[in-house]
Amino acid sequence: MSLNESSPAAPSGPRLPTLPALLAVALIGSVTWAFGLWIGPELVPGPKVPERAFIDHEAEIDPLRTVLALSVSDGVSERRPLPAVDRTVKMGRGDTLMELLLRAGINRRDAYNAIEAMRKLHNPRDLMPGMPVTLAYQALADVPNPPLSFRGFRFKPSVEKTVTVSRSWDNRFEGSLSKTQLIHSQAKAKGVINSSVYVDAVKAGVPVNVVVEMIRAFSFEVDFQREIHPGDGFEVFYDRLMTPDGHLAKTGDVIFGALILKGKRYALYHHRMKDGTEDYFNGKGESVRKALMRTPIDGARLSSRFGRRRHPILGYNKMHKGIDFAAPRGTRIMAAGNGVVVAAGRNGGYGLYVRIRHNTTYATAYAHMRAIAKGIRRGHRVRQGQTIGYVGSTGRSTGPHLHYEVLRNNRQVNPLGLKLPTGRTLKGAELKRFLAAKTEIDGAFARLTD
Ligand SMILES: [Zn+2]
Repeated sequence: MSLNESSPAAPSGPRLPTLPALLAVALIGSVTWAFGLWIGPELVPGPKVPERAFIDHEAEIDPLRTVLALSVSDGVSERRPLPAVDRTVKMGRGDTLMELLLRAGINRRDAYNAIEAMRKLHNPRDLMPGMPVTLAYQALADVPNPPLSFRGFRFKPSVEKTVTVSRSWDNRFEGSLSKTQLIHSQAKAKGVINSSVYVDAVKAGVPVNVVVEMIRAFSFEVDFQREIHPGDGFEVFYDRLMTPDGHLAKTGDVIFGALILKGKRYALYHHRMKDGTEDYFNGKGESVRKALMRTPIDGARLSSRFGRRRHPILGYNKMHKGIDFAAPRGTRIMAAGNGVVVAAGRNGGYGLYVRIRHNTTYATAYAHMRAIAKGIRRGHRVRQGQTIGYVGSTGRSTGPHLHYEVLRNNRQVNPLGLKLPTGRTLKGAELKRFLAAKTEIDGAFARLTD
């Protein structure tokens, strides 16, 4: 999710007038009341410019819309300021900022100088496709469709930062970086599960990365196919950073999460130990982390078990050496455990296939993917819960599903029958610290209104 999406788009208003325009204003002297209103609130640079103004329409703005009605005093017609004009364009895929500026009709020297002015503040290569860049112009004449002079550009590399490059009165480009102070707060959400934890928590307004983290924490303990039923519930309590105008900038740790399954409540608490390591523990201080997840996918339905069955395509009885999860095409597939990718690519009837070696004994394999996730290549390390690919129907497959195998000493075993080693249990002083933190978390969660 792009965090910028939390700010709704809004049309942009008039922009910061450039210095020559201001000098002209000063020379004119008597500024009418209406003109003062126009220029007043826009004079302050930096955070005062509303953030939402940066995500605006791509269409060309009619410069005349920003011009105020001609004001007349003592019968002498006064010069009105030439309007500032903004145009927002988006970075294309594989685009450079240079190409974007040249395409917008800015001459090569100005484009070069403007980019050089920002280099110290932000790497020009580090602009994501789709990122809006606002180009600032000054009209050169007070006529319809006036000729425009390029005054600079600005963009937001993150929710709290704005990089602005503007041309000074002596024609040099200068860069500036403004930062919004983010406010730390906590948020909670609870709801009923109708389709899946993922779908219903996102619907309840929980940020996607918080939901993913929570599912990851619970996936050791809970079999997401068999144990979650419509009507079950979830609760989540997490850290976040907000912009001063109330938009979500970043999310932090999941402090606490709970699943209410058939009326029974399973709660997990995030705990950072004295030695700096962190993990999720149940209320008794037992880590729920296991070497391998039972279910490397959320929102799926177990559609075929391990064992002998009639093969849907080949038509004869054949040993099914994994388990199948039916899921919508594109559903993300997680690495079941930490490990090293030992295969990633086409593999005959398996279609697009990934295999991960977790230790000397265990490996897992994932087949029929629509696509393998970016960065998943032979020899690369993966973390438990990391996205490795997406559900598809490649290879010998009758419909979108994940075929999942667990291999022990290179032989497929039944993932559902695995006796997995459990993680650590807190003891002594560490358990005391944990229980004190847990009491505080429970209190804070209860006090916070939904
Ligand atoms: Zn299968």
